[in-house]
Amino acid sequence: MDRVYPGARAPVMASALPSPDHLPCPDCGALVPSDADQLHICDDQQRLEYQLHELKAEMDRFSEDFGDWLNTPEGRLQQWIAERER
Ligand SMILES: [Zn+2]
Repeated sequence: MDRVYPGARAPVMASALPSPDHLPCPDCGALVPSDADQLHICDDQQRLEYQLHELKAEMDRFSEDFGDWLNTPEGRLQQWIAERER
């Protein structure tokens, strides 16, 4: 579930912008020429940063979903039960 901020553009990693002749590497996000005759080798540092970035986005989505769930009747009931059992 993406939030839309009026007038603000979501931050996009420049290296993740796909273009017809370059494709982002699924492991490190680096743009790799699609007609490359050489095998792309990931840069360890870039791969780590890319995967941390992906992980963080996933955690943000989770806490957003969890926050939404807490506002559902089921979420409120589970909070009430958790409070009682404390
Ligand atoms: Zn790569």
